[in-house]
Amino acid sequence: MISLDDVHLAYSAGDTTIPVLKGASLDVEQGQSVAIIGPSGSGKSSLLLVLTGLETPDSGSVVFSGKSLHTLSSDARADIRRDDIGIVFQSFHLIPSLTACENVALPLDIAGSESARTQAAELLERVGLGHRAHHYPNAMSGGERQRVAIARALIHKPSLIVADEPTGNLDNQTGDAVADLLFELNQENDATLLLVTHDPALAARCERQVRLHEGSLQTVSA
Ligand code: ADP
Ligand code: MG
Repeated sequence: MISLDDVHLAYSAGDTTIPVLKGASLDVEQGQSVAIIGPSGSGKSSLLLVLTGLETPDSGSVVFSGKSLHTLSSDARADIRRDDIGIVFQSFHLIPSLTACENVALPLDIAGSESARTQAAELLERVGLGHRAHHYPNAMSGGERQRVAIARALIHKPSLIVADEPTGNLDNQTGDAVADLLFELNQENDATLLLVTHDPALAARCERQVRLHEGSLQTVSA
């Protein structure tokens, strides 16, 4: 379903370059859940950006559903993200001027769906935020924002869900509820779930665990 082959990525900072990915390879099947672990700064977020076509690698390939992402135009990549990928960013990236319901409806609105608001309201109900539908992100707690971000990433039933430390900012109880929700929605839609986490308990709930170490991916458990 998604396959990375020998991906290299370096960032340039002034006249030095920081190599981050140095031959990362990974093959994930449809419906699988995979935890990506590794210390802070090891390149986990960068890896997710490359996987979702938001960052272009210096070399190597990323194939998603049979399409080589980085040989496509950036418009074609954006179409794939809109239709097939749900991303839960580490810092949520909610739009402050939109209510929770409007944020969640956005992917469907963009796709021209007429029932965007109704579906968004239903999903917010599902994540326990029905009563917060018309509130703005600034008026919500970290856990609530995280659930809004998850609802927005999943509203269009993407075949790939990518989440960057989805429980990182949450207390244990809220974190567990958020993780339950991700796994539940993942199974309902037979979506592939890739999650970056520092939390060993959350990693252990995934079918596979891989560690990003010195720029490449190693199997921890399969
Ligand atoms: P992680 O998510 O594992 O903490 P990141 O992928 O965020 O790691 O970062 C990996 C390394 O790349 C870090 O050293 C970080 O400082 C650097 N880095 C990340 N993004 C950029 C960028 N846009 N420009 C320059 N350096 C970056
Ligand atoms: Mg990160």
